[in-house]
Amino acid sequence: MGKILVTGGAGYIGSHVVKLLNLKKKEIIIIDNLSTGKKKYVKNGIFFKGDIRNKSHLYKIFSNHKIKSVIHLAANCLVEESHNKIDEYYENNVVGTINLLDLMVKFKVENIIFSSSCSVYGYKSNKIKEDDNLNPINVYGETKKVCEELIQSYSKAYKFNYIILRYFNACGADLENNLGEDRENETHLIPLIFKSIQNNKPVNIFGKDYKTRDKTCVRDYIHVQDIARAHFKSLSFLRKNKKSFIFNLGTEKGLSVLDIINITSNVLNKKVRYKISNRRKGDPPYLVASSSKIKKKLNFTNKYSDPRLIIKTAWKWFQSIN
Ligand code: UDP
Repeated sequence: MGKILVTGGAGYIGSHVVKLLNLKKKEIIIIDNLSTGKKKYVKNGIFFKGDIRNKSHLYKIFSNHKIKSVIHLAANCLVEESHNKIDEYYENNVVGTINLLDLMVKFKVENIIFSSSCSVYGYKSNKIKEDDNLNPINVYGETKKVCEELIQSYSKAYKFNYIILRYFNACGADLENNLGEDRENETHLIPLIFKSIQNNKPVNIFGKDYKTRDKTCVRDYIHVQDIARAHFKSLSFLRKNKKSFIFNLGTEKGLSVLDIINITSNVLNKKVRYKISNRRKGDPPYLVASSSKIKKKLNFTNKYSDPRLIIKTAWKWFQSIN
């Protein structure tokens, strides 16, 4: 049957993907350097602590296991941080991806699913389609764009297939409350709102001078289990069809920072204090997906991305780890 290599399988999204693959009885190999992921969230599969920048370590894994597909999630993924750690972002995201692609070619691996990001798009003001032009405005988005290009040219030259998934804003937690967001240095909006409630301190709104409905940034928030489901669906598709695609993974619904604060306050029946601070570097004002392509080609629709369910599951998880 062949095994699935999941890079970054100890991370927030990776751990949800691994959980689902295991439920579907897949054989899973995981590599994660545990820079942000945690070993305790790898509950299935064979785990290797390692770095995708270390090609000889990757080589050993590929030689010892018959890997049929790769799900490549390992990456540095923070917009603001990417400007302060340009070399690290390029090395980990781009060099790591080249190492993986080289080994896929060497070991004749047939499929790759790649975690890309809506950060590849840059400034947009309407629902974004996959064939809109790519014009990233932050280093993180640039690295993801380069990786997409690499995957496409390797695929053309070496005849393997890919599905590139451009995630919009991953959020929420496992409905069984076994997994969720758990980072040392949290920068994401929803967990930071929860922290502000817990500490009774205001959450920062990064900029209230954007050209959006309420002048705060608009994003498209998708539940992490829907993201995991899309990986499984993509994998099943690639195993049956020798075709490659790029898909957005979002909800088509734009929510501003203030919307998220209000929904949280409403769902939890708690007051959320906030203050307006400066814009954060690299933040596009508006990122909302068109989802019609993945619906049409993979017949994929979201199941868990109602914002109230996102907040409920994320809050339950937050309380269980804090
Ligand atoms: N944001 C904010 N305050 C925070 C964290 C985030 O106003 O403490 C904003 C951020 O500027 C962006 C949105 O919330 O517009 C989502 O940010 P997050 O870091 O969660 O995800 P990103 O969109 O950067 O992937």
